[in-house]
Amino acid sequence: MLVKCVLCDREGEISDDAPEAKRLRNRPIHTYMCPECHDRISSRTAERIATGKFCFRRTSASAEERF
Ligand SMILES: [Zn+2]
Repeated sequence: MLVKCVLCDREGEISDDAPEAKRLRNRPIHTYMCPECHDRISSRTAERIATGKFCFRRTSASAEERF
């Protein structure tokens, strides 16, 4: 499926079978972030993740293991 990064407007394509594609089907396409921006945001929010409020990285990692 085609996706567009919400932060840098870069267009990309991800596999329909990817866990991220399954998530995006249930959400607006605007929630997609390219890996570059995702890493940037993740390092910025690392402190908040450490507090336990955000755990999407862990969630996504365990989802990938299941597939
Ligand atoms: Zn981006």
